[in-house]
Amino acid sequence: MIDFQKITTSSRRYNFHAHTQFCDGRAPMEDFIVKAIEEGFTDYGFSPHSPIPFESPCNMKQSDVAAYTAETERLKALYGDRINIYRSMEIDYIDANWGPSSPYFDSLGLDYRIGSVHFIPCGDIFVDTDGRYSSFQVKMEKYFDNDIRYVVDSFYRQTLAMIEAGGFDIIGHFDKIGSNASYFQPGIENEEWYAAHVKNVIEAIKDNHLIVEINTKSLAEHGRFFPNARYFDAIRRYDIPVIVNSDAHVPALINAGRFEAFEAYFK
Ligand SMILES: [Zn+2]
Ligand SMILES: [Zn+2]
Repeated sequence: MIDFQKITTSSRRYNFHAHTQFCDGRAPMEDFIVKAIEEGFTDYGFSPHSPIPFESPCNMKQSDVAAYTAETERLKALYGDRINIYRSMEIDYIDANWGPSSPYFDSLGLDYRIGSVHFIPCGDIFVDTDGRYSSFQVKMEKYFDNDIRYVVDSFYRQTLAMIEAGGFDIIGHFDKIGSNASYFQPGIENEEWYAAHVKNVIEAIKDNHLIVEINTKSLAEHGRFFPNARYFDAIRRYDIPVIVNSDAHVPALINAGRFEAFEAYFK
């Protein structure tokens, strides 16, 4: 197991959340490593969107996992004297049958695991509620009858179920739904029921000894971190370990928003 605490207290030049050619990232893994070395990073972890049991354009296919492993090994051999390279996945929690705790992921020998929720159940299918607001808006109408309360409740229900099931080290962007939900219904995060969901999740994170990532991917475009800075006090109060990840999909953004996150969280 990686000693995240040791790494993140001795270096601010690390990133443990990155997408590449193996999922919806837009550059080969090697380009990220070259850029990371150029920028003085000490540690770089890859986290393709995990295979899931149905078709999804953003997720890695099971048949590509061996190539992903081989490419990580190749890069370690080439660049391992300059930077620590890790092989992970951002594993989607789908339901009791598929998530970070599934035996399949044990068989992969990953260096660490991120658990994230992107999919919301709708009848017997699962709908990706991540991504652009324009597409979220279409899905709200098409699948959810514009019932934002159902979508938000489901997101946090999925999140709690994922935490209870375990099998991961870092919880990815644990309030991600807050962004699209706030465009759909401005002020939704100020509502008591919404705040109660987040409080429950933070307590579950604490009880299950998980690491929270501060995800900086949307800072430039949406002016927020995940989790929202409004929850930083609660996370500090519970003394939950925190790491700062850029969730980069292109090499140019591996450090985007990270400085601001350190400033905002650690002051
Ligand atoms: Zn994600
Ligand atoms: Zn991601």
